[in-house]
Parts: sequence; structure tokens; C-alpha cells
Amino acid sequence: MNLETCLKKMQLVGVLAFATVDGQGAPQIRNISAIHYEADALYFFTARGKDFCRELQADGRVQILAYTKYKEMIRLSGKAYAVDAGAQIKWRDIIFEEQPYLANVYPGDTRDIGIIFCIDEGEVEYFNLGVKPIFRETYRLGKLTETAKTGNHKGYHITDACIGCGTCVQHCPQSCISCVEDAETGNTHFSIRQEHCLHCGACYEHCPVGAVKRYESE
Ligand code: SF4
Ligand code: SF4
Repeated sequence: MNLETCLKKMQLVGVLAFATVDGQGAPQIRNISAIHYEADALYFFTARGKDFCRELQADGRVQILAYTKYKEMIRLSGKAYAVDAGAQIKWRDIIFEEQPYLANVYPGDTRDIGIIFCIDEGEVEYFNLGVKPIFRETYRLGKLTETAKTGNHKGYHITDACIGCGTCVQHCPQSCISCVEDAETGNTHFSIRQEHCLHCGACYEHCPVGAVKRYESE
């Protein structure tokens, strides 16, 4: 899996859920399909009068979710900004050409009420529950590092407090905890294979010495 394939899958899903934050800090979500995909950015159309537009202008944070029939979840987290005035028409017309239904919704010059936003920096999470073991990976969307994988800062990890009892291994539903040997020291330690971890927390709950930690809690 990679960023390019994730964006392609989002495009194939077509209608994506866009979540924003409103002025009261409450989540707001809606389906959007007026999207154009570039290799390193998404452009999308909305109307200036919509709450969605005001939320993007005021805050800009957005999460976009796609779900495929193969049980793949793809989530893009980023910040949207309005494209420069000089480029608005270009991107709008590309989106209208790719999405013919828009000419029915906004016929003729009524499309002028639209505004184009762009997301060109963010994080794309891929999470596949349709394979065994499950698989997850995270990629950086950005002009400079669009294909680089990001570090995994979610979920759990095993610290040096581990006493090697093996209890967590017995409770892991994906069998993704193993005892590995350090190549330099030759010492063994328990470790979570992050790309197969569900983030279910069973290892965290069952560890008798609290050696499993959440990344977010640090
Ligand atoms: S969080 Fe769940 S899936 Fe991940 S290592 Fe712990 S028990 Fe296994
Ligand atoms: S349950 Fe805790 S102490 Fe036991 S192997 Fe797992 S992390 Fe280490």
C-alpha cells in the first residue's frame, strides 16, 4: 500500500464523508463527491453560503473518510484552505467536467456561488480489516514528502518495564506481539508489530506490571 493507491481508492469510492468542527466545537459531517484528485492534493467544491464552507474558512481542520467493500478504511486528516482567487475558476471547471451532475445542481453561471478548497498537507491512514492479520499504515500527504510513511503515533507499545511474562501475547486477537531479539545486544524483548495492531487495548488491560503504554498518553 502507498499514498498513491490510497488516493486512487478514495477516488473510486467517490462519495466521501467530510467531517469538520463547527463554531461550538461540535463535529459536523456530510458527504462530498465534488472532488478532484492530484498526486499530492485534493481539490473540492462547495457553495459559499453553506455551513460547511464557513467551518472550513473559520477552522479548516477536516477529516475525510472512505470505506471500500473490501473492508478498507482510508482516512485523510488535514487542513483545507481556499484556493487563490486566480486559480478558483480553473479548479472549479475541472471538477465540473469530471462530475457532470454538478451542472444540474448549479446550472450556468449559478456555479459562481462555489468556492474551491484544497488540502495539500496531511496524513492518510490506511486500515484493512479484510485481511489476516489486519493491516494498517500511515502516509504523509505533502508537497515535499508525499510518499514518505509517517511514524505511527497511535496505539500501544511495550516499554522497558516488561518482565517477559507473555500474558499480552495470549490476549492479542491478531497475534501481533512477539518476542524479538535485538540485533546489536542479542537481548530479547516483547514488541508489537504496529502494522497489524488493532489498537484494541487488550495487551494494555492485561499486562500485570503496566508495561504497555498508549502513545497518546505520553
Ligand atoms: S492493542 Fe490489541 S491488537 Fe494491538 S497488540 Fe495489543 S492486544 Fe494486540
Ligand atoms: S504482559 Fe506486560 S510484562 Fe508480560 S510480556 Fe506483555 S508487556 Fe511484558
